[in-house]
Amino acid sequence: MATPERSCIACRKKGGKGELIKLADTPSGVVIDYLEKLPGRGAYICAEDACMEKGLKEGPLSRAFKHKVSPPDADAFREELRGKILRKIEGIFGIAMKSRQAVWGFDAVASAARRARGGLLIVAEDISEGTERKFMGSAPGSSYDTVHYSTKDGLGSILGASPVALVFIAEPALAAALGREIGRLKGISRG
Ligand SMILES: [Zn+2]
Repeated sequence: MATPERSCIACRKKGGKGELIKLADTPSGVVIDYLEKLPGRGAYICAEDACMEKGLKEGPLSRAFKHKVSPPDADAFREELRGKILRKIEGIFGIAMKSRQAVWGFDAVASAARRARGGLLIVAEDISEGTERKFMGSAPGSSYDTVHYSTKDGLGSILGASPVALVFIAEPALAAALGREIGRLKGISRG
């Protein structure tokens, strides 16, 4: 069996497993096959507004699936995709917590960040300027990636804790997966 080529139906960018979003052609229409589990022919698309706007149309979808396909409702599709990405993000946080690979709270995160060789610092979007400045002074880091994501309340609720402004994940595979999913989420605007 030939390896199916994965390239975005809108911009033609190629991507490996987990990089592009898989679409599946089902009797009830084109659906998001986020976990890549559905049988049959797949098509791939970047998790980005521009590609979804261009690609989720009858022409590109019909070419990809080799028969006439009606495009899904774009807003509903974006909302569904955001929901799937959010669940995936929560799942990764869950795994990181269970395997004790996530730390939060100012001192624990600063200490993990100072020791880090790689990893991901997650900063709540509503962190106070003072706290962020203090953190940068305490653990200036170029050895790890930083993303701004969610709010203190949002991170706290994911972690089952009171509001959390800073989270650090050192384990490389989890850090990379989380960074990728957060990047995807930021590429898609709300419907
Ligand atoms: Zn694309």
